[in-house]
Amino acid sequence: MRAAVYHGPEDVRIEDVPQRPLGATDVRIGVAACGICGSDLHEYRSGPMLIPEERPHPITGATLPLVMGHEFAGEVIECGADVSGVEPGDRVTVNPILYCGDCRYCDRGAYHLCSSGGFLGLTGRGGFAETAVVSADSVVKLPDGVDYAGGALIEPLSVAVHAIRQSGLQLGDTVAVLGAGPIGLAVVAAARAAGARTIVASEPQPDRRELAVEFGADVAVDPTTDDAVDVVRDHTDGGADVAFEVAGIEATFNQAIRATAKNGTVAAVGIFEDDVTMGARTAIPGERAVVGTLGYEGGPLAALDFKRTLALLERGAFDPSTFVTARIGLDEIVEAGFEALLDGGEHVKVLVEP
Ligand SMILES: [Zn+2]
Ligand SMILES: [Zn+2]
Repeated sequence: MRAAVYHGPEDVRIEDVPQRPLGATDVRIGVAACGICGSDLHEYRSGPMLIPEERPHPITGATLPLVMGHEFAGEVIECGADVSGVEPGDRVTVNPILYCGDCRYCDRGAYHLCSSGGFLGLTGRGGFAETAVVSADSVVKLPDGVDYAGGALIEPLSVAVHAIRQSGLQLGDTVAVLGAGPIGLAVVAAARAAGARTIVASEPQPDRRELAVEFGADVAVDPTTDDAVDVVRDHTDGGADVAFEVAGIEATFNQAIRATAKNGTVAAVGIFEDDVTMGARTAIPGERAVVGTLGYEGGPLAALDFKRTLALLERGAFDPSTFVTARIGLDEIVEAGFEALLDGGEHVKVLVEP
């Protein structure tokens, strides 16, 4: 079967790879759609970071070269002997979290924080392929009203849903969102659905600012021409109750701290490539909390955040048609996928349809 295989930075090849054998508790999925994520772009541009280069991943044994893609949905085409509750023909999305089941975090159900955990498509074979083999407990059935494009969006949207819950956002809170890429936009929509009163988004790209307003932001500020912190303070009586950092860089992290009211919460959603210096003089005397948030619940709890997100998608809190800006074939993944997204421009989410 054909797959997009990562060999190294700027070296992703479309290759014929053998299908993986099906374990007793696995299902084989005909992949219908798989989204390209910011973390895929990090790996493509400057990886391997999460992708194991030499030391095989402790759970999957995977090393380079590796089939990428972790935001995918498709049809179940084959089930292992011990699989129940899922059958061929089922339309599903996949929770890509890998876990050991045996560490202190897995013991308490925090599978997404597993000591040796990982993700399909980064530390195990993923969904930029005609078919994928996944553990049956990682699939979540799609309701009739959700198509495969919506199914492929459940993973990134769940990051936002999980972030809202981690942040402790309350009905009527004021919110700042620093960075309005795909996850930032999802955070805006999720914060709106969660009953935020005022949402101020900050984003340098003009088309993404427009989308932020479409998704529920009251104000979208350009941080290259205006002081994002001042604008947040102006609209939130001096500081937001909750600020979401969704860029993973020092500037926005410290903006998030300064944009937050005393007693407020900074929810750090972005993935940091480098360590940053934190504005502790502001954060600490104001009794602000800085909360890390990573992904969504996984493993045996794979359906928990995913079903919350599916329910929100079904009732229109997220509109897949505004997220998905291009649908491309596997062959086009480098030029029309990775390169197009890295060029910036008007893309939000590019879906690969193998
Ligand atoms: Zn992702
Ligand atoms: Zn574990």
